[in-house]
Amino acid sequence: MSQSTKRFSVPLHSRLAGSKALGLLKHEPCPSASTPCDAPRSWRRGCQATQAEAQPSQEAVLPGPWFSPRVDRSEDTAMPSAPFASLDMPKPKWKRVLLKISGEALAGEKTSNIDPAILLRIAQEVAAIARLGVEVAVTVGGGNFFRGATWAGASGLDRASADQIGMMATVMNAIFLQASLESLGCPTRVQTAFKMAEVAEPYIRRRAMRHLEKGRVVIFGAGTGNPFFTTDTAAALRAAEINAEVVLKATNVDGVYDCDPRHNTAAQLHQHVSYAQVARDRLSVMDATAITLCAENDIPVVVFNLNIPGNISRALKGERIGTLIDQQGAQST
Ligand code: UDP
Repeated sequence: MSQSTKRFSVPLHSRLAGSKALGLLKHEPCPSASTPCDAPRSWRRGCQATQAEAQPSQEAVLPGPWFSPRVDRSEDTAMPSAPFASLDMPKPKWKRVLLKISGEALAGEKTSNIDPAILLRIAQEVAAIARLGVEVAVTVGGGNFFRGATWAGASGLDRASADQIGMMATVMNAIFLQASLESLGCPTRVQTAFKMAEVAEPYIRRRAMRHLEKGRVVIFGAGTGNPFFTTDTAAALRAAEINAEVVLKATNVDGVYDCDPRHNTAAQLHQHVSYAQVARDRLSVMDATAITLCAENDIPVVVFNLNIPGNISRALKGERIGTLIDQQGAQST
């Protein structure tokens, strides 16, 4: 018998036992193949549970060890667990979502560009939903710091350069959101559309999807990486790329109105409109490129108010809030 044949003739269980003794086995296999493993998805490689069993059930994901706090949970940082911790709650509607957070909404009422309390509240809601097994990708805007179109022309600043500054502003928000989520024990990755190797991963589609499958919240920074675009378009683009089921646009207003509610007190909130109606009536929701991308890829958009506590959770769970935009519009309601 050759040397190599001899090596592989050792029974598998002995080899595993040997590896374990040497500390080579990172994870214990599940005690029973018929018992779904309750470790988080990223820890399930050694698990013998079937693919179906490995789907995130509330029971399986809720006590996930990744969620044990790494920081002291004071009143401020306590997870809003009460509404979500119940095992009786309905199954979330979406499996994978793209949450778009406008930069402007992060500023709140403060004169500084960013309100950490708002960021923490967003992080709490996102983390609680991720804990239920919803795969959450986030695209953050940068309007609280810098908008290319506003600054273009100032002191010789051309539009493309101004937009690059704007895109970097989105990365600042992404890093802050990442820190807030991780302070709650929620694993995250930031991926940027252009390389910032010391700060974040570059955007790699398949890698982003793998992170999501492993239960990490993926935050997309730097928009599309191209000037003359917006982070709404980046959100639509990434949603299509990663096969997200919906774009949830968190903003400063309750949804889509027939006219500007800041200037017209009689403005009516639409509950359900079609992509075509948004384009035809020039409803101010997202730029045309973003809406077209969503329409072409049949990705519904939910526009809702970020400032109402609990709204992000409601949207992420698929509750009917704000305005829904899809192919059918109000005909189907
Ligand atoms: N931006 C860009 N390309 C993109 C996304 C964003 O050039 O793909 C720049 C642009 O200057 C924009 C700024 O980044 O004004 C901030 O993004 P956005 O205005 O979409 O942020 P939000 O309105 O969501 O806060």
